[in-house]
Amino acid sequence: MKKKFNFSAGPSMLPESVLNQIKEELLNWNNLGISVMEISHRSSEFEELAQKTQRNLRILLDVPSNYTILFCQGGARAQFSAIPMNLLKKPTGNIDYINTGYWGYRAAIEAQKFCNVNIVNVLDKDINGFYFIKPINEWNISKDSLYIHYCPNETISGISINDIPIFSETKILIADCSSMLLSQPIDINRFGIIYASAQKNIGVPGLTVVIIRNDLIFNTVSNYKKIPAILDYEILLSNNSMFNTPVTISWYIANLVLEWLKKLGGLSKINEFNKKKSALLYKAIDDSDCYYNNINYKYRSIMNVPFFLKREKLTYLFLEESKFFGLYGLKGHKIHGGIRASIYNAMTLEGVLNLIKFMNFFSRQCS
Ligand code: PMP
Repeated sequence: MKKKFNFSAGPSMLPESVLNQIKEELLNWNNLGISVMEISHRSSEFEELAQKTQRNLRILLDVPSNYTILFCQGGARAQFSAIPMNLLKKPTGNIDYINTGYWGYRAAIEAQKFCNVNIVNVLDKDINGFYFIKPINEWNISKDSLYIHYCPNETISGISINDIPIFSETKILIADCSSMLLSQPIDINRFGIIYASAQKNIGVPGLTVVIIRNDLIFNTVSNYKKIPAILDYEILLSNNSMFNTPVTISWYIANLVLEWLKKLGGLSKINEFNKKKSALLYKAIDDSDCYYNNINYKYRSIMNVPFFLKREKLTYLFLEESKFFGLYGLKGHKIHGGIRASIYNAMTLEGVLNLIKFMNFFSRQCS
């Protein structure tokens, strides 16, 4: 079969070597003679794997010792509720949610169920029609908010806040890093909580990584703590993230991906590679008369590269023909339209070059 390149936004491509390893050990994991999918999460073998996964994540992300890593369920969306529920001391608390686009806004709407949310609109358009993020001194942050939540990489629109925003030290900064965690080094010390669902750079759906500063886990006042047990950080911690049966297969695959990333040289190395791939793709878009991207270059995502055809009617044809070139998953999100190439860590240079080759070929139909 012709080689396929998968540009899906999540679930997304896994490294080929990881897929091969899964295939090889599917029926006989760890010399047990059975599959990793069939064993108890309480078995010593699985507990060892769980600890290894935690350790690998800690090493790769350089997680400080005063932070805990929790493995949660319910995707990033469960964290949209878990965070206000765990952190707020009273239901009248104020919190700030930075609205960078779809995911930043969805998190804010969910948080509104639990407290007063100040939605801070930071998106703007320049005179050329390119979206950008307003300078931080124009962000309308509340004086008394307990925390500020933002999404550094909007998976759908491909807008990115590359520098961690600086606020007063009393503010707790929280980030939904779902589509950028592990794509570059990140200074965890600057955050109260960061979280990410696994199906982009960590592995497959089911697992959500939450990295939380220890003092925030025990900081809640009990009479407001009517939190479903499965979302309660204190309960998850005291049960080593195994309060209920974890998604064992997703933890196992995450560990293989983390091992792969370590072998590649870690986050600085993968960041260089990600920058190179995205620069090639943006150049192909910018240099062409056929395509355009509408994000100011300073705020362009290196993970999700959306673009449009100048002759919009050709979008369907582009998507259909791309399949014959072995290019999969290029359709833009339904609320956004156009094309989106998600080029997470596992996307190879060969994949990006093949996409560019196809774009150049197709652009002859645009003229
Ligand atoms: N946040 C971001 C930035 C996302 O990209 C997504 C999923 N694409 C989510 C949240 C929701 O994640 P989940 O489906 O795992 O809840």
